[in-house]
Amino acid sequence: MGELRIVVAGAAGRMGRMIVRAIHEAAGMTLAGALERENSPWVDHDPGPLAGCPASGLTIVTDPLPLMLNADAIIDFSSPAATVELAALAAQARIADVIGTTGLADEDLDRIDAAARHAPIVRSGNMSLGVNLLAALTRRAAAALGDEYDIEIVEMHHRMKVDAPSGTALMLGEAAAAGRGIALKSHAARGRDGVSGARRKGDIGFASLRGGTVVGDHEVVFAGEGERLSLAHHAEDRMLFAYGALKAARWAHGRKPGLYAMADVLGLKD
Ligand code: NAP
Repeated sequence: MGELRIVVAGAAGRMGRMIVRAIHEAAGMTLAGALERENSPWVDHDPGPLAGCPASGLTIVTDPLPLMLNADAIIDFSSPAATVELAALAAQARIADVIGTTGLADEDLDRIDAAARHAPIVRSGNMSLGVNLLAALTRRAAAALGDEYDIEIVEMHHRMKVDAPSGTALMLGEAAAAGRGIALKSHAARGRDGVSGARRKGDIGFASLRGGTVVGDHEVVFAGEGERLSLAHHAEDRMLFAYGALKAARWAHGRKPGLYAMADVLGLKD
């Protein structure tokens, strides 16, 4: 079998650089292209040295389709607007699409769903094994404890993060809601401020802290009468997400079209 040829979207970003480095270090994979948005100062730069690797012989470009037609997969940690466009192009090119971008709106998710009819797409707000296991444990705990236990999800990230709550916090909220058999949409309590009233029974609360260089901390608290259970995860190194994304690309390549989660890749679905 030949090398898996991967295009990286947002290749000059924090995660993009990690992914370029992980591809460089991985056996059986090559960087097939590097994308940034129009007018990016990184266009025409070699993505290798940007990622702390030797020269790759490629340059960062802005036109995705020619790259994607000549690749096996795209790994995309960019921005919601770019991500929906790239998902449609992955469908056109019939290649695997691994989406790590967070902050996607409902209509973005609908467009990604539509693209997944023609390409295998793995989308996850968090690509780490630990967090995906935390989601599975959260689902079980929520099912076992019932709504006498109030669920609050607390996350902290570095000061540059632009969306809140984090994609991972929402994923944990979905897991808790699934465990309780309710829809997160009608039970999420986000952004309490001022006289926000007593806590509504059955709500799943979110709180976001921002500061410093924190890679990603998440805690799911189950607060009952006289006891409190906490499940927590601390990401210490962004490379964790890059390795997860590579694993997802390998897993998705050649699979039938559909929308998959990291839990599918990691065999954590019950
Ligand atoms: P970042 O440093 O801002 O990187 C994003 C990169 O994408 C930037 O270089 C940005 O360029 C570029 N970009 C924007 N629009 C583009 C387009 N149309 N085409 C190509 N590139 C484009 O952010 P980050 O920390 O790497 O995070 C990126 C995303 O991944 C965020 O949504 C973050 O929450 C998510 N994330 C997910 C996981 C996970 O495991 N799923 C882990 C970490 C982060 P400009 O700066 O010029 O706009």
